[in-house]
Amino acid sequence: MVDEPVGRIRFMDEQRVNLDGFAREDPALGLVALHSPADPEPSLRVVDGVVVELDGKARDAFDTIDSYVAAHGIDLSVAEEAMALGEVVAARLFVDPAVPRGEVIRLVAGMTPAKLARVVMLLRPPELMMAMTKLRARRTPSNQAHVTNLLDDPLLLAADAATAAAYGFRELETTVPVLADAPSNAVAVTIGAAVGAPGVLVQCAVEEAMELEMGLRGLVSYAETVSLYGTESVFVDGDDTPWSKALLTSGYASRGIKMRVSSGAGAEVLMAGAEGRSMLYLESRCVSLARAIGAQGVQNGGIDGASVAASVPRGVRELMAENVMVMARNLESCSGNDALMSESHVRRTSRTLPILLAGSDYICSGFGSVRRYDNMFGPSNWNAEDIDDWLALQRDWGVDGGLRTASADTVRDLRRQAVEAVRDVYRALGLGDFTDEQLAAAVDAAGSMDLAGTDALAVLAAAQTIRGAGLTALDVARALHETGHDEAARRVLDMAVARVHGDHLQTAAIFDEDMRVLSLVTDPNEYAGPGTGYEPAPRRQAEIDDIRQARGVADLRRTQAADRTDKLQKTGNAGFGTDPREVVIGVSPGVGRTVWRTLSGLLVQDVLQELLDGLEEEGCLARIVRVNSTIDLGMVGLTAARLAGSGIGIGLQGKGTALIHRRDLPPLANLELYSMAPTLTAEMYRALGANAGRHAKGATPVPVRNPYTEEAIEARYHTSVIALVALERDCADPEAAPEELSFR
Ligand code: CA
Repeated sequence: MVDEPVGRIRFMDEQRVNLDGFAREDPALGLVALHSPADPEPSLRVVDGVVVELDGKARDAFDTIDSYVAAHGIDLSVAEEAMALGEVVAARLFVDPAVPRGEVIRLVAGMTPAKLARVVMLLRPPELMMAMTKLRARRTPSNQAHVTNLLDDPLLLAADAATAAAYGFRELETTVPVLADAPSNAVAVTIGAAVGAPGVLVQCAVEEAMELEMGLRGLVSYAETVSLYGTESVFVDGDDTPWSKALLTSGYASRGIKMRVSSGAGAEVLMAGAEGRSMLYLESRCVSLARAIGAQGVQNGGIDGASVAASVPRGVRELMAENVMVMARNLESCSGNDALMSESHVRRTSRTLPILLAGSDYICSGFGSVRRYDNMFGPSNWNAEDIDDWLALQRDWGVDGGLRTASADTVRDLRRQAVEAVRDVYRALGLGDFTDEQLAAAVDAAGSMDLAGTDALAVLAAAQTIRGAGLTALDVARALHETGHDEAARRVLDMAVARVHGDHLQTAAIFDEDMRVLSLVTDPNEYAGPGTGYEPAPRRQAEIDDIRQARGVADLRRTQAADRTDKLQKTGNAGFGTDPREVVIGVSPGVGRTVWRTLSGLLVQDVLQELLDGLEEEGCLARIVRVNSTIDLGMVGLTAARLAGSGIGIGLQGKGTALIHRRDLPPLANLELYSMAPTLTAEMYRALGANAGRHAKGATPVPVRNPYTEEAIEARYHTSVIALVALERDCADPEAAPEELSFR
């Protein structure tokens, strides 16, 4: 019989992290992160310009991946030098700020997959961050969003795309629960993105032929879901070879469509095709292959397999190492953080934070800009639920995570423009009609469950019309123009023009909002230690710093002034009382001048009424005086006590903190203290008044206990406290005498 665990363990079992799965390392299944005993020793033999041995395998034993990498993936002019480098020596080059990025790129080009994996394996977590800071291609970090919904609702897709663009995402990726809907989704997201901001790239991730077709028509502007695998058996299972992927890559590039491939740990394990190799080694093969087939970049770092990697020891470290390999191969890194790898907020933050701090070409290869339930890629590691967290993290560390705050008015206006543009374009192109109610619902909706419903057949019919009629981006631009959406029309057209120029086919290219290309060529990362590399420009830094929740003294002064009343009036200087039943309530200098509402939300006047009622219950008399010389609660209370006929005073600060004092006590002592101002209630103030009355009568009442809360009360209120204290301080005058107040 097994004993039931004790309560402490049962309690720990219920925590979110235990919704995750954790696997024992099992190299035979590929459940091993950085190194497996079956990983080959790095080796390279070249005879007459031909690779005859690669990572321990002779040429006649090459599989298709080896063959392709051997033929196109290794710079033989530097291979001998690179392969002769000791692994520790090479790893130090990744980290040493004195070694230029270009030197690392030059040498890595000559390394075999096994060699690169061995080098990167040596980097410890802070060293991975250093390597990422230095090796990413583009200087300016960026971010990519998922924009999808359960219903493929075009209005909501457009509204959410505009919202994502407003928040700063530079690539928007949609997909479909229903494949045939794809053209409608692509058009809706393209329109929404164009309404939201200039130069936003759009993707619709679906089956490869349809995706390419939409790309050719300009309905999407980048592609990313061409998958590579680290073993031939998994490639073959997908009816693919490195050559078919290379052909597809060239097809996109030939039409001016930005193109990167997808890979990442876990895929081979899930398909039982890891062949006993480590995740890092297999991914190194994928990255070498991506370089060899001419892709612009790689989306990796545990994409669909993120939780597989995260289930083994050092798995999260392996995910980041994958991104560093991409950067070292001089490709754009779209560095994972897309699939939700844990239900634990701590673990998923831990997985992303190093990359956010180091900066990557795309920190998330799919931040779910929509609600978790609407994310048709499956929930991302970060979703709409977390956008405010992300903005706070950027601000906390002063780093650029690619996002910015959008004001409530901006979001409303853009969502309205986006749905109107979709309505007008769909009508103009004969794709469908929408009612005003549908538009209003999509503008307001936080997710598709807030919609009354979507006519699924109408979406399908729109998609079929787009495909059947051969509509292109130019048709969309024309329809936007003809229905008065000139700015969005111009932006759709600008993207089509950019594809003819092709400047964004350079590595790590994005457009800024002036349609300038930022890439390895035009915005190269030249990090070389402190004082170099990317720093947000002052305007960008202001965007990062200025989150909508931030409050200052001026904001608080405004909200306090809204509660101004004339209930408290000065009647003269306060004198000494003589009645032994008299208790004086001393209030702080700002009360009735700049401060009208306490942190708990109660008006100061209501708090005073409760105190007076409590005193009256005990048959006591009360006076209210304002202590002008100090904002210190103890001194306010003591001053009141000294003025009171009973020698008992109540001190009350504008923020709501209160105490009972007695005239013979030292200033820092008190009889009862109510310190948790935000949690104090009307009932408690009444009890405080009553207890002060009992003290006045010489009794020893049971003290009222501060309510206990485990919430971060101080974190929530400290800004208000600082501002309130500043307002009180403005009113304080050390020379001023206490004054008597009338209270109506
Ligand atoms: Ca993606």
